[in-house]
Amino acid sequence: MTNSLGLYIHIPFCEKKCNYCDFYSAFYNKDTLSVYLTALKGEIKKWGGKLDRPIDTVYIGGGTPSLLGEEIIPLLDCVKTNFTVLDKAEITVEANPSSSDDFLEFAKCAGVNRLSIGVQSGCDDTLKTLGRTHTSRDAAITVQKARELGFDNISLDLMIALPDSNLQTLKNDIDFILSLNPEHISSYILKIEQNTAFFKKQDALNLPDDDDSAEQYLYMCDAFEKNGYNHYEISNFSRENKESRHNIKYWLGEDYLGLGPAAHSCLDGKRFYYPRDLMGFIKNPQTVYDGEAGGKQEALMLGLRLSRGVDLSKIYGEIPEMIRKKINLLENAGYIKANLPHISLTNSGMLISNSIITELLGDYL
Ligand code: SF4
Repeated sequence: MTNSLGLYIHIPFCEKKCNYCDFYSAFYNKDTLSVYLTALKGEIKKWGGKLDRPIDTVYIGGGTPSLLGEEIIPLLDCVKTNFTVLDKAEITVEANPSSSDDFLEFAKCAGVNRLSIGVQSGCDDTLKTLGRTHTSRDAAITVQKARELGFDNISLDLMIALPDSNLQTLKNDIDFILSLNPEHISSYILKIEQNTAFFKKQDALNLPDDDDSAEQYLYMCDAFEKNGYNHYEISNFSRENKESRHNIKYWLGEDYLGLGPAAHSCLDGKRFYYPRDLMGFIKNPQTVYDGEAGGKQEALMLGLRLSRGVDLSKIYGEIPEMIRKKINLLENAGYIKANLPHISLTNSGMLISNSIITELLGDYL
């Protein structure tokens, strides 16, 4: 593990709540954003004074970071003043597609070198169903504008297994994403979470069943792989050397500091987080201890998310006979690629990763 650190900054504001979303965010208000930024900069200063570790990735997520507008410039200046940000640091910001605002210019000026754009679908009716405020045209214009500004590392989000979806609608969405030629794609199977608008009306949503969702996932993996994207993590695809360096830290169990309400950290063997409480953060930001990091169970759970897989000898030492038998069964069923002590999941295995991990953990850890 290196001495460098990833820094996550949460911008917990949205103009409108999307129908599927349970991320922590409050309704946007300019004055509240302003007092939030004061509190956030106070935390950046506090942690920068405590930690003598260089930052090699910064990720500004939300919420809707594009609501920062030009405030992204002093925010990243504050990070650079209080931490040593390495010259080659990956600095990502999430942006919602918008054909009208100047956020991308401000982000470029601030030193952002990677964008993550929430495209989600190429179909305007689907975007409406999801409660998104943009259109597919907005997404295309945003990507084009980003290219004109010189961004050469763009990630696009795609959602699959959506209401009224099938392989044809998925193909249309994939073709749309591919037409924008991103360096990276993050793709998520829609999950209906509690406390979302979709949860309350899920019986009325025409959702694909588990088999159809699985078929969509495998179709998508195949389509992106055929188009030159490396499927390097369950939900992530990239061109060569364009993996998300920040997110890889999460899966490798490396250290990162998360600032803002609902932001989690993993630092020096400890996990902690700020509660999901915007006003609490503004008044008195305090973290809550969330246990020790780096156990074997965690290493297996996180490591198997990556297509590079895990070395089981680092988890078990000598691999128990019972585990070898299970691996054999899972390999024959097409869920695992094994070259012991190394294993990784196939695309089919990624679909049922939780069950596989439960099987492999057994009574041994
Ligand atoms: S999906 Fe993004 S924009 Fe929509 S409510 Fe959630 S955080 Fe806000």
